[in-house]
Amino acid sequence: MTEQAYIGLGSNLGHPRQQLEQALQAMDQLPQTRLLKASSLYSSAPLGPADQPRYTNAVALLETRLEPLQLLEQLQAIEQQHGRTRLGERWGPRTLDLDIVLFGNQAIAHKDLQVPHYHMHLRPFVLYPLAEVSCADLKLPDGRLLVDLLLQCPQDPSLHRLQP
Ligand code: ATP
Ligand code: CA
Ligand code: CA
Ligand code: CA
Repeated sequence: MTEQAYIGLGSNLGHPRQQLEQALQAMDQLPQTRLLKASSLYSSAPLGPADQPRYTNAVALLETRLEPLQLLEQLQAIEQQHGRTRLGERWGPRTLDLDIVLFGNQAIAHKDLQVPHYHMHLRPFVLYPLAEVSCADLKLPDGRLLVDLLLQCPQDPSLHRLQP
């Protein structure tokens, strides 16, 4: 079955813009997968430890015939190919982070994969680019509308769209 999946991209080490561009290409080249849309790039202040560089973020829309866990595995392989090293601390700096935000209309509660992404509703750097590459009436599996999440999410004055 073909599904549409929304992927959140983030980077705050190395050359973030370049890494996000390369990650978009790499996702387009995955088996049984193609890139349908990519949002603008955004810049945001880091979550968690504040002594790290600002993040560059984006959201991509993929069309894929992979199963969700297969897609996760492929995304983790792309992270590794882009030199991702896992420093000890959660939410610490990284060259590339690829999260599955939504996978079709599926709700997934697996030990290695929770979809929708558990914090998407709290993250303006996910919701704004997501709105760019989806429809105004995008609905989560539980029926919540993206427009309502946008209205309710905490403001992030640090978030801005980067010039192309
Ligand atoms: P956060 O999940 O809060 O954005 P993070 O992206 O920094 O934090 P990681 O260290 O990249 O967290 O990932 C930790 C684990 O999260 C991964 O090994 C993966 O198994 C799991 N995970 C659960 N749900 C998802 C999802 N929707 N997309 C990607 N990884 C997920
Ligand atoms: Ca392809
Ligand atoms: Ca993440
Ligand atoms: Ca991640």
